[in-house]
Amino acid sequence: MLRIGLTGGIGSGKSTVSAGLAERGAVVIDADAVVKELQAPGQPVLAAMVERFGPGILLADGSLDRQAVADVVFTDAEALADLNAIVHPAVGAEIMRRIEAEEGTDHVVVLDVPLLVENEAFEVAAVVVVDTDPEIAVQRLVEHRGFTEDDARARISRQASREQRLARADFVIPNDGDRAALDAHVERCWAWIQELHAGQAPDAAG
Ligand code: ADP
Repeated sequence: MLRIGLTGGIGSGKSTVSAGLAERGAVVIDADAVVKELQAPGQPVLAAMVERFGPGILLADGSLDRQAVADVVFTDAEALADLNAIVHPAVGAEIMRRIEAEEGTDHVVVLDVPLLVENEAFEVAAVVVVDTDPEIAVQRLVEHRGFTEDDARARISRQASREQRLARADFVIPNDGDRAALDAHVERCWAWIQELHAGQAPDAAG
């Protein structure tokens, strides 16, 4: 197994890159998807959240009302800390479990973990950064993802800066051009990953 970290700000094109790497054979572990799975009805994480925040965070069908949770933690730092204390350890453990399941394989495992730059919990052989001009990211979030411009800017300003991300990059995928340009960069990145994998010492291969 070769572990690669993938990071990029919201609207940078990280999900598009992650899908491109998966198409080329990478096993992608997506932290956001893990969070959603662990917050599904019947999961202990959801039960712990209901215990802490009350049944008002559930929709009529028993699924999580994400907006209700967001509303509670937005103005209450203690509630946010409690939420993180419930969700983060469970998500971290599940991601570790998925990594361990790949041990002994020759797979390229891509960790799509938004906080990779902010927290160094997961060991990776290299970090790939999707780098986009924040103005272009704002445009894409407004055009394709239904954000208001203010909301897009606020979300971006709460994340790690472009410079902080680039400082940790072993490979940069620029995404200021069109989709074809992005795909060409993903292809180059995949070739680079293959080289890294081939050069990796057997005892470090996991
Ligand atoms: P992220 O996961 O980083 O938030 P996405 O991959 O979801 O970003 O990209 C944000 C939006 O912009 C999506 O709708 C995506 O299809 C679109 N997008 C990404 N890259 C490009 C590009 N090079 N040209 C045009 N649209 C793009």
